[in-house]
Amino acid sequence: MPSQRTHPLIDAERQKIARRYRNNNLRLSIGSLIVSAVLLAVILLLDLSKGFVGLLSGTIGTRPLLIAVYFSALYFVFSFLTLPFGYAEGYVIEHKYGFSTQNRRAWFMDWLKSFLVTYVIGLLVFEVIYLLIPLAPTLWWLWLSAIMIGFSVILTNVFPVVILPLFYRSSPIQNDEVNKEITQLSSRAGVDVQGVYSIDLSSKTTKANAAVVGLGNTKRILIGDTLLSKYELNEVLSAVAHEIVHYSEHHMWWLILWQSLTTLLMFYIFYRIQPVVYAWFGFVSAADVAAFPVFAIIFFAISYVFRPVGAGLSRYYERRADSGALELTGDTLAFVHLIAKFCNEQLSIAFPNRFIEWYKYSHPSPGKRIEFAERWRKK
Ligand SMILES: [Zn+2]
Repeated sequence: MPSQRTHPLIDAERQKIARRYRNNNLRLSIGSLIVSAVLLAVILLLDLSKGFVGLLSGTIGTRPLLIAVYFSALYFVFSFLTLPFGYAEGYVIEHKYGFSTQNRRAWFMDWLKSFLVTYVIGLLVFEVIYLLIPLAPTLWWLWLSAIMIGFSVILTNVFPVVILPLFYRSSPIQNDEVNKEITQLSSRAGVDVQGVYSIDLSSKTTKANAAVVGLGNTKRILIGDTLLSKYELNEVLSAVAHEIVHYSEHHMWWLILWQSLTTLLMFYIFYRIQPVVYAWFGFVSAADVAAFPVFAIIFFAISYVFRPVGAGLSRYYERRADSGALELTGDTLAFVHLIAKFCNEQLSIAFPNRFIEWYKYSHPSPGKRIEFAERWRKK
């Protein structure tokens, strides 16, 4: 049942299209999930995983190499089987609704780059998991959590300088008026923002966005060129003020802290339930690489259960950034227009189903953000 709530700034016709857009994407992610689940089921029911590891053990002498070959095979099969869904979602649908500015070749180059980046990171994590479990049979979940936390800190730190440049170009903002206003906002927030960059989102999409990325020496604010070119200055400044609050209140560190605690709890739960589930499928040891499909099933199940925790934490900091931005600019009207414009242009659902919002929204819904700002004005 779609929500009947609305707001004068929300375009009713665009909301109808937004629902179709959402349904298209939803069908594709469910399709991709079903393909992955069927593949895991086939692998387990036909004992393909055990057979494959048996075959590899006969020819490969060292465990790290066996782990690498097993992971690579699985990663390639899953990536190629889910590629049609990724293509439909990232290319076909985005073109159909007028968002994508990429041609097919550019889209495939991006897919290939993220395929390789994910492969390198995934391989590293996979090696750590299967080399660690035999070394610490009872405490691996604790070690693994600690390593994952350290790894996510490093990855967040290097992201703007190593991974992002593979996909986007960013440069200092050229517009003097925007720069002057940003400096004023930051000094009012009492923070010295090290870097504010314009990023060429327009090379891929018409959607506007801004973000804080990086950690420590790489922390910076990115403003999409799509935001700078199509939005009024006071709307851009509302978006920048929101990012300045994320920056000045160190929300990235807080999110990493909470996510670390969640990771620890997830791995502990995993450790406790894993022997029972492994036994159902005829595996005895968590160190057995062939049992990875079971590992993946348990891990995804726990992640789905924990999803509202991460989403709720994210929404909490987004709300803080919204209220901080309103304090900083004092310009409720610009903020309300910014959110409404985002919602209308990008086909977001203004008032989504409450359960879905609670379960997975990283930001409060556009409708709620607008109502929040209007209540803030009346205060
Ligand atoms: Zn934010």
